Amino acid sequence: MFDTLTLARLPAEDEALRPAIRAFIQQNIAGIPLDRRARSWQGFSAEFSRALGQAGFLGLTLPKEYGGNGKGPFARFVVVEELLSAGAPVAAHWIADRQSAPLLLNFGTETQRQKHIPAICRGEQLFCIGMSEPGSGSDLASVRTRAERTAKGWVINGQKIWTTNAMHSDYMIALVRTSGTSADRQGGLSQLIIDLKAPGVTVRPIVDLTGDAHFAEVFFENVELDEDALVGAEGEGWKQVVAELAFERSGPERIYSSAVLLDAWIKHLQAVGRSDCAALVGRLTAELATLRAMSIACTARLVAGESPVVEASIVKDRGTGFEQELPVVIGDDVAANPDEAVSEELYRTLLYVTHIAPSFSLRGGTREILRGIIARGMGLR
Ligand SMILES: Cc1cc2nc3c(=O)[nH]c(=O)nc-3n(C[C@H](O)[C@H](O)[C@H](O)COP(=O)(O)OP(=O)(O)OC[C@H]3O[C@@H](n4cnc5c(N)ncnc54)[C@H](O)[C@@H]3O)c2cc1C
Repeated sequence: MFDTLTLARLPAEDEALRPAIRAFIQQNIAGIPLDRRARSWQGFSAEFSRALGQAGFLGLTLPKEYGGNGKGPFARFVVVEELLSAGAPVAAHWIADRQSAPLLLNFGTETQRQKHIPAICRGEQLFCIGMSEPGSGSDLASVRTRAERTAKGWVINGQKIWTTNAMHSDYMIALVRTSGTSADRQGGLSQLIIDLKAPGVTVRPIVDLTGDAHFAEVFFENVELDEDALVGAEGEGWKQVVAELAFERSGPERIYSSAVLLDAWIKHLQAVGRSDCAALVGRLTAELATLRAMSIACTARLVAGESPVVEASIVKDRGTGFEQELPVVIGDDVAANPDEAVSEELYRTLLYVTHIAPSFSLRGGTREILRGIIARGMGLR
């Protein structure tokens, strides 16, 4: 049920991480052009993620006994906020650190935790999420990829699609059917860890409108998995996935995807000495500050051990709307001032963000699906 969001502050001990992460970013991303930084959490560098792990900035929410930092969601908020607003290439560790490791911590066996979580905290094991299939995106309960029991474990057949970074990943955590048929909906679904180097796995990158290939189709043909590939209880996959999505929807990643562009445009206005946009910049900044406060309030609920599903959906819906508005507003301003000197870098950044922005409200659950969750939480349906 929907509850009001109570404003919260980032604790001083977590704020104290800011100078160190800023210094790390300055040292490690100097020289990456703005339009590459605009890739935000789709920018990939395995080397950067390993360096971040070595510096202790991964696994912030994970216990020290598994190689984590033992801090918590507020510390992760500070570090992620700095990384995203600078446009650091975080994709290599993003999914493993945000979702896969917490999922394994909550539902995995001790063997699975030992095998994966310390390596994730070092930025050395890359994970992807296999939920969507052709015909099963919003309607996730209809997945048809199937795992059958064998004498040694499981054999899996089927296909996933839109799998972010599948071509770079070591493992996929897939939602698959382990009993019944797709007519059974949420019943009979389970989560399995799939080694993407196993025989029978084919990964085909998909190129998007910007020319990047950050996601892929993944095919499984009689892929054999050991017994311990199962995460959590057989048939409990749906419940586990719903818990996982709460980590995914409320964070700063839903407000900062166009931050590099906004910064570049403000610097441009300063460089050409134009003040006619002051009110517009003020409105956008106030909107960002409000969204940030909402995201911190959601983080406080996570810290309190709650699962703010409706509140996180509101942040994602409003946040991605803001991220999508920025290239439109900035594009309009650039077009309205044709005689003004605009750097090639700002043009390229604007072009990239304009092309990628429609995806902001699709990834992690579409706007219509989120609004359905919000309406249900408010007792409207
Ligand atoms: C950049 C990007 C990265 C992604 N990464 C991953 C990933 O790593 N792993 C993964 O599993 N998936 C990933 N996805 C897939 C994403 O989760 C799906 O695209 C999304 O859930 C929508 O599913 P669909 O594409 O099948 O669209 P559909 O479900 O077919 O929806 C099409 C349209 O119909 C609307 N619609 C659907 N059902 C309803 C309804 N009940 N009521 C009202 N409107 C409805 C939707 O809002 C949408 O506008 C990614 C997608 C993108 C864009």
